Order: sequence, then structure tokens, then C-alpha cells
Amino acid sequence: MQPTIHLAFVDDWELSGDGSGDARELQFAPMRKLVEIYNAHGIRGSFNAEVLQQLAFRQFQNEHPELKALADDWDNAVRETFRAGHDVQLHLHPQWSSVDYAGGKWKLNGDWSILNYSAEEARSMIARGKEYLENLLRPIDPGYASISFRSGSWCIAPSPFMLNLLAEFGIVFDMSIVGGVSYQTRRINLDYSNCEEDFLPYYPVMADARRVSDKPEPIVCIPTNHFYGSRRTTFQHHVRKAAAKVKSRVASEAAARPAGRTSAAYGHEWAQSDSDSTLRRVLNKGVAPYIKGRHLISDLAQLDYALMCEMLQSIRRRARASGLTDVPVILENHTKDIVDFTDIDRFIADVAKASDIKCVTLTELARELRRGRFAIKTRPASTHE
Ligand SMILES: [Zn+2]
Repeated sequence: MQPTIHLAFVDDWELSGDGSGDARELQFAPMRKLVEIYNAHGIRGSFNAEVLQQLAFRQFQNEHPELKALADDWDNAVRETFRAGHDVQLHLHPQWSSVDYAGGKWKLNGDWSILNYSAEEARSMIARGKEYLENLLRPIDPGYASISFRSGSWCIAPSPFMLNLLAEFGIVFDMSIVGGVSYQTRRINLDYSNCEEDFLPYYPVMADARRVSDKPEPIVCIPTNHFYGSRRTTFQHHVRKAAAKVKSRVASEAAARPAGRTSAAYGHEWAQSDSDSTLRRVLNKGVAPYIKGRHLISDLAQLDYALMCEMLQSIRRRARASGLTDVPVILENHTKDIVDFTDIDRFIADVAKASDIKCVTLTELARELRRGRFAIKTRPASTHE
């Protein structure tokens, strides 16, 4: 029997990790374009709005009226999207928790991982983020609540306090775990290479979301999907990307201006310093993932249409293998990294027509989780070491 896949199109909506970039270009315009695509295909998406950035803009808006204008536009973009039926949920990048603004540029002083803060500091960030979103959206829907969480740079485990804090704030599920991801960089240190569950919803060990608890817990983890691309498609994809990167780099250098954010810098920006050579960037970005076994996060901004189709095959295969009738799956996207919407548009058109796929928002997923629609894994007591 073909299970029903409850598919959430989720987008982390934010400026670049170092605070650079123009919100109009990296956030407002691509959000509207994506919403247009969702609307055209009759589906609803979800945006994980990074709120600490917005709070920093508000903090400096009196001395810098240009920040007030952008912060107001941010509010308007979020409200407009929400009013059209799409979801907006909580995303936090703690590097924004301590900032300076000078000469039109942000300097982010905060540590990049929420795991490196005290429980009190983390509590305050969650509280302020949730309060901001709820104040913004409850005038449109009095029932609105932040019910899901994705941590900036995926930092959720291990932590003695994060899952408990989220549960305390009424967060129904966390989606920060991505099986197979591992970063040891200047800014981020995390290792999800041995997660006990990387596809289905589960009750986590409260101090370590990588592990499955042997009993129900106050919060659920739904991993963000990942998959393994075929050798051929992954290789072709990376070659095209590397070539485009060199080309745009050369073009921008020829134009004697600093290189813009021409394509995905994701993951990479956590490690890279300004002195990185083009070649090293290309090698890291284009070739390393290929050698690392074609592991790919299901991040639509990073995939072409052929890989999106392979991603969907992998999701269907794993959903069938689970033996369950209903399986929730969470995708990723980054509006700031989308270079071309054509492949995303084409993929969404396919999904919207598929009889075994139901597109859902994060709020709908939380509701169905609470109603017991989805099996939530626990570790059988007998296998507990
Ligand atoms: Zn983010």
C-alpha cells in the first residue's frame, strides 16, 4: 500500500549568516515569488522567520531610519504571506543576539550556536522570538501560535536544556535534526552522523535529540529530510554549480566589484574566511559533497529538478518501507539562496498533482501530531543499553 506523505515545504527566511545582504533582495522579493508559485499550484508553504535579526533591526531603528523602513517591510512581508494562508514559524540565529551597526553594515558578535549559551540566555531568545511572531500574527488569526522550531545552523543537540525549553514554550515539534550532517568549523561544531532516527517522527532523549527516548516525552522531533543522490545526477549537478560559480566569480572580478551572493553559500559561510581562494571554495562546495557519498540535505535552493525527483523517490521508498499509512516529511529551502525558480516551480507542480502527497503547513503537522495521526517512535525498552 502506498502511504500518504504529508509534505511540508519549509523555508528558512533570513539574511546571510554574517548579517550581510539586502533584505529586499534576499528575503522580500524571493518570498513573494515563492508564495506566487505556491498559490499558483494551490499549496501552502511555511516560512521559518529568523526573528533575532528583526529584533536587531528594531533595536537600532531610532538612530537609523533606513532600518525602521526595512523592519516595517519585514513585518508586512510576513503578514501578507500569513494572510494568504501560508505558515510562519520560529527560527533563531543567536549570532544576532549581540550586534553593532555602523557604516550601513552589521557586525554580529554573538556565538553562532545556541548550544553555547546558558539556559537563561536561550530562554530569553526563544521567548522574544515567539512573542514577536505572535504579536505580529494574532491580529490576523487569534489562534496563531509558534508551535515548531528550527535552530539556526541546525544546532539542537546535545543540550541539557534546549528541548525542555522548547516544550515549556509550547513548541510541539523540533525539526533541527538532519541525519548525516556533520560540521566541524570555526563557527559550528555538530555531529549528526549517527542519529538513531533520521526519517520518522520520534520522542527524543531530552538532553540529546540525536537519540530516541524509550518513552513519550513533552516534545517530538521530526527530522528535516535528507537523501543520497545518484552518482551521475549528483556529479552533473556539482559540476554545473562549480562552473557557474567560477564564471560568476570571474565576471564579478572583471567588473571590479565585490562578488555578490551569486549562489548558495550555505554551510560554507560558517567556515569560510574572506581570504579563501575561488579554487578552494569551488573544491569545498563542488567536489567535497560528491566525495562524501552524495549526502544531500533536502534543501530545494541547493537542488536541481533531477535531484528533487531523486529526493522524492527516496522519500516514497522510505515511507513505504516504514509500513505506516501516514508519514510526515519536512523539506528545507532558503529564499536567500534561490538563484532560479524554474526547477522549484516544476517540482511543486509535480507534487501538487501527486495522489499520494498531501502538502501541509507546520501548524497542520503539529495539529495532526497532537491528534495522533502519525506514529511517533520510541525505542523499544528491550533494546535499551
Ligand atoms: Zn537559518
